Amino acid sequence: MLPKCGSCGLFKTCQSPKMKPFGQGERRVLVVGEAPGATEDGEGRPFIGKAGQFLRSRLESLGVDLDNDAWTTNALICRPPDNATPDERQISYCRPNLVNAIARYQPRVVLTLGRSALASALTPYWNDTGPLERWVGWAIPVADHWICPTYHPSYLGRMKNPLLDRMFVDHLDQAFALEQDPPAVVDYKSKIELLYGEREIYDAIRSLNEEGGWVAVDYETNCLKPEYPKARIVSCAISNGKRTISFPWIGKAITATGMFLRSPTTRKIASNLKFEERWTRKTFGHGASLWGWDTMLAAHCLDNRPGICSLKFQSFVKLGVPIYNENVEPYLSGGHGHYNRIEEIDIKTLLLYGGMDALLEYRVAMVQRKEMGYDN
Ligand code: URA
Repeated sequence: MLPKCGSCGLFKTCQSPKMKPFGQGERRVLVVGEAPGATEDGEGRPFIGKAGQFLRSRLESLGVDLDNDAWTTNALICRPPDNATPDERQISYCRPNLVNAIARYQPRVVLTLGRSALASALTPYWNDTGPLERWVGWAIPVADHWICPTYHPSYLGRMKNPLLDRMFVDHLDQAFALEQDPPAVVDYKSKIELLYGEREIYDAIRSLNEEGGWVAVDYETNCLKPEYPKARIVSCAISNGKRTISFPWIGKAITATGMFLRSPTTRKIASNLKFEERWTRKTFGHGASLWGWDTMLAAHCLDNRPGICSLKFQSFVKLGVPIYNENVEPYLSGGHGHYNRIEEIDIKTLLLYGGMDALLEYRVAMVQRKEMGYDN
């Protein structure tokens, strides 16, 4: 990390510059707020003013003592004049302090209060956080710790909304009740087989079909709707969790995929299955047999907040997989008319991306099924 602490200049205007984290951390939770307020700045300790009292009272109702059970710090460790909301630049300058606190205390849980703390904690994993509402309440298993985002206590103090207050207590309860460390991070990319030869693709699809069970299918296409005149599938990926293959849309690979999709021996998974179904119908003149799961639909059934159903978001909050489409995204969204620029991506990068989608669709589907009470 570049030593940027001090670059924002806030240390010059506050009484307690570069405030140190505080607490015993008995339950290995690092609570991250926005920035010290006037009371905190005066005393040199986080969370002792009005918002801190609000937080403490809600924690006490759960039998948690903030100073004993947690460590506390902030996204900015110097008080901004007039408690101004931190900007992105200040948060990024101060981020090394949070990184150092995490390295030093090795918390099991990083509990973020409000947008600034969330932005700081998510930095290495996610770039565009969007509304706080879509993040609160998840326990995200990133490397070495859980990130548990919730509201900022000052906001709740102002809103006086019993429902939000109740949700806040539930979020705190969840964060302090997490007793297991998060599962080890999986290198999903290394599990994807990129296949280029028609024969090997054909054989792999046949053997996946023979095995049966749950299988995720994912197309990469040069536009959204198969009815456009130059619409075409560029690649496809298939995953049964144990084996993931990703291949270009060529010759015998197309024939085998058609047979596979028509066969009822596997239960198919997709993310937004109407997309795969429409393209399948257009390409083969028949739909897929036995669609069994749609990760977008299941995400919406489990939690109907906006902005949470995409495979990328679900993979991150449920499996801790950081954003993986950064190098592909500009080609998917930019293009001419109805068409994207997917065919300009080098084939290896595209196949890896498609393979990640299929494998994560499978993994997310299995987590969702468990949450819904199926025994998979
Ligand atoms: N006190 C802090 O230390 N941080 C906050 O975000 C609010 C109050």
